[in-house]
Amino acid sequence: MGRIGVQNLPRPERAQTYPTVLHGMKGGKPMNDSTSTTAQAERLSDTAKLAGQWKSIDWKQVEAVVNRLQTRIAKAAQEKKWNTVKRLQYLLTHSYCAKLLAVRKVTTNKGKKTSGIDNVLWNSPAQKMKAAFSLTDKGYTANPLRRVYIEKKGKKAKRPLGIPTMYDRAMQALYALALDPASEATADKHSFGFRKGRCAQDACEYIFADLCKKVSPKWVLEGDIKGCFDNISHDWLIANIPMDKSILKQFLKAGFVFKGELFPTEDGTPQGGVISPILANMALDGMEKVLSDRFHTNRLGKVDLRFQNAHKVNLVRYADDFVITAATEEIALEAKEMKTRGLELSEEKTVISHIDEGFDMLGWTFRKFKGKLIIKPSKNAIKAFVSTLSETVLKRGKAWRQDLLIKKLNQKILGWTNYHQSVCASDAFAHIDHILFGFLWKWAKRRHPKKRKPWIFARYWHSRWNYNALFCTENKELRKANHTPIVRHRRIRMDANPYLEPDYFSQRQFNHGMKRLSGRFKQVWKNQNGCCFHCGQPMDIGGEKEIFYKAPKSKGDRNDISNMAYVHSHCQLLYTERRAEA
Ligand SMILES: [Zn+2]
Repeated sequence: MGRIGVQNLPRPERAQTYPTVLHGMKGGKPMNDSTSTTAQAERLSDTAKLAGQWKSIDWKQVEAVVNRLQTRIAKAAQEKKWNTVKRLQYLLTHSYCAKLLAVRKVTTNKGKKTSGIDNVLWNSPAQKMKAAFSLTDKGYTANPLRRVYIEKKGKKAKRPLGIPTMYDRAMQALYALALDPASEATADKHSFGFRKGRCAQDACEYIFADLCKKVSPKWVLEGDIKGCFDNISHDWLIANIPMDKSILKQFLKAGFVFKGELFPTEDGTPQGGVISPILANMALDGMEKVLSDRFHTNRLGKVDLRFQNAHKVNLVRYADDFVITAATEEIALEAKEMKTRGLELSEEKTVISHIDEGFDMLGWTFRKFKGKLIIKPSKNAIKAFVSTLSETVLKRGKAWRQDLLIKKLNQKILGWTNYHQSVCASDAFAHIDHILFGFLWKWAKRRHPKKRKPWIFARYWHSRWNYNALFCTENKELRKANHTPIVRHRRIRMDANPYLEPDYFSQRQFNHGMKRLSGRFKQVWKNQNGCCFHCGQPMDIGGEKEIFYKAPKSKGDRNDISNMAYVHSHCQLLYTERRAEA
C-alpha cells in the first residue's frame, strides 16, 4: 500500500505538531535510533514493562471510576448545572482510567485493523499502553482523515468514507465518554438511535403504540433530512455542544486527504469517529420541541391536551430517520415545512402516506389491515438479506467446506432473525428458509457436476431429530430462521437515563437475553445472571459477545453447559493477551 506523503502537504496551521507517539511508534519501538544496541535492549525491557502494565490493569475498577464520573455528569446536566458539568468533564477527560477505556474501545472495535493517514495501528499490549499514556489535549491537532471510496450495493456512485488515525479515534472516544452523559439530559424522549440502552426495537414499539388504536392518527410523515451528517453547521455545534470547544473544533475541521491532497471540511460531523452520532443526535434533538411548540402548545405557551389530541402529532426518531404521525394530511404537510437548526427535510425523499397504504421504517413495514396494525420485515429488508445469503453461498462460499459455510450462515441468520423476531416475521422467516434451500442446492450441485441428485442430497442433507432434510455435518447444523420464536419487545421507559438508573437497564438487558435465547444458551445466560464471566459487568445481548469455554479444548466438553460462559468480546481479547504472556 502506498504511503500518503503527509509531510509534503501544504498545511500551514497544522504544521508538524503530531503527538510524539505517532512519530515514534512502529512496532512498539522508536524509529530514529535503531542503530544503537544498548538503546535497543533498553527499549525491549521498556516494551515488556508497558505490556505488563497493560495486562495487569484492573478493568473492573477502571470502569467503576469512569462510571462514577459519568453518573455525576449526568446528574449535573439534569440539574442544568453546566459549570459543574464542565468541571467534571475535565476531570474525566484527564483521568488515567478514561484514557485506558478509550484505547480499549478503539482497539477492540470493528475498525481496529484499518489505519488512518499515518499508517499506525495499535496491536500489541505495549502499543496500547503507550497510546493511553500519550493521550492529551495539550497542543492537540487532529490529523486529516484518510479518504477511501467504498462500493455501494447496486449503485455506480461510490460512497466516500473518512478514516481518522488511531490517535484521533481514541481522542474522540475519550471525549465521547464525557459528552454522552451530558447529551442524555437534553435528548429528545423519542429518539432511539445511537443511545446507550436503546435500540431500533424500542422505536418500533413506540410507533406501534402511536398508531395501533382505532382513534390513532391515520397519516404518517416519513422524514429524511437532507444529508444530515454532512450538513450540520459547525457554528451551531461549536456554540451549543457542551464540551471543550478547541477539541471539538479539531474534530470538526480535520479535513481529509485524498490522493495526497488536503481538502477542508466546512460542515457536517466528523466521519468515522465514535463521537459523530452523539453530535448528530444533539443537533437533531430540537425536533421534539419544534413540533410540540407548534402542535401541542396553546397561546400561553403551555402544553395543552386539547391541541395534542386534535393534532395527534407524535415523533419517533432513530438517528436521522424519523416518522411524524398526524391526524390529517394537512397537518402532516405542515409538519413537513419544519426546520430545525438549519436542517431541512429532503423534498423527494420525504413521503406522506396513509396508514392503510403503510410505510417503511428501520427495515419494517407498518400497515393497517382492516383496522389492525401489522408490522412485518419490509420487502427491501428481505431483498437485502437474500442477496447477502446468495453472495455468501454462491460467491464467497463456493469452495468452502460445509461446516464453515454453516458457521458463516448461522451467524448471519442469527443476526437477522434477532433483529426481526419482535414483529410478525414468521412468513418472512419461512420464506428465507425456502430461498436459502435453493441456494444451497445450487451450491451442492455445482460441487459435484457428475453425480446424480439423490447422491448429492444424501451427502449434504441428513435426517436428524424430527427433520428429514437438515443441511448439516456431524456436529454442525444449519439454523432454521423459521424456528426463531416471535417475542414481543418490551419497550423502554421513555424518560429512563442509563447513567442514573443502571439497575433498570441491566435488568432489561438480562430479560432481553432470557427472551431471545433458547436451549442451553438460555441456561448459560441465566446461570451467569446476564453478566460477563470475565469482568462481571452486565452484558447486552445485542452487543459484541462470545462464548467462552472454561476448560481447554482437549479436556472440556463443548456442549456441557457448566463449561460455557458468555463474555464480552473485548474481555476475551484481554484474556487472550494475558494468556499469551504465560
Ligand atoms: Zn466483560
